[in-house]
Amino acid sequence: MRCVVANWKMNLASREARAFCEDLLGHFTPQAGIEVGIAPSFTFLHLVSELVRPIGLQVFGQNGHAEAKGAFTGEVSMPQLRDAGCSGVLLGHSERRQFFGETDAALATKVKAAWQWDLLPLLCIGETLAQRDAGQTLEVLRQQLSILAETGPGPLWVAYEPVWAIGTGRRAEAAQVREAHAFIRGELNRHLAGTDYVVPILYGGSVTPESFPELLTIPEVAGGLVGGASLDPRKFAELVKQAG
Ligand code: PEP
Repeated sequence: MRCVVANWKMNLASREARAFCEDLLGHFTPQAGIEVGIAPSFTFLHLVSELVRPIGLQVFGQNGHAEAKGAFTGEVSMPQLRDAGCSGVLLGHSERRQFFGETDAALATKVKAAWQWDLLPLLCIGETLAQRDAGQTLEVLRQQLSILAETGPGPLWVAYEPVWAIGTGRRAEAAQVREAHAFIRGELNRHLAGTDYVVPILYGGSVTPESFPELLTIPEVAGGLVGGASLDPRKFAELVKQAG
């Protein structure tokens, strides 16, 4: 299975989101074996869901709170994401870890909450440049995946996103992606041993239609989590086509 997911971050207004979806629908042919998702801002989750779910696209929240409801001003819960039409939720994006202090401990509770509300967690992991330069990449990935020891097994997608490659135009080299994805697969096999869960590992970090075909040839790269290039419906449609 291949997966292509758009992370719109804090971009677009509802009018632009509608225009994107209408343009995408005009250029999008559903293909067997390819899962396509969009992670819009909370304010137009409903709108995007209504437009794209009928043709089989998934809609992801960009974050979700572990509690189902209560006094958590500014937060959105997993059942609220479901109510807005989401089938999944991005968890642990590096911007959440970096700017909002998201910890592995908090992510373990969020993954469990997502499962409780029947949402597919897309867990983002990756090292900073300082960690890579210090030779700590694999240890960071091991640590970030160790939350699975606490959550136990369940349906999951993982995105390997080297922090230094996100939004920078600097894509990781093939050998770096190959090493990281192979390591992640080994860790997932260890955590999910004895279960039937098949976890696709997406690459994220400055993916474009120019770089995606080569990335897709790397073993264990099951697709992409795409930021910047996903804001252009033609580029996003092209990425989906390339995944086919
Ligand atoms: C992302 O937001 O997850 C991402 C990979 O962004 P970009 O494609 O812009 O690097």
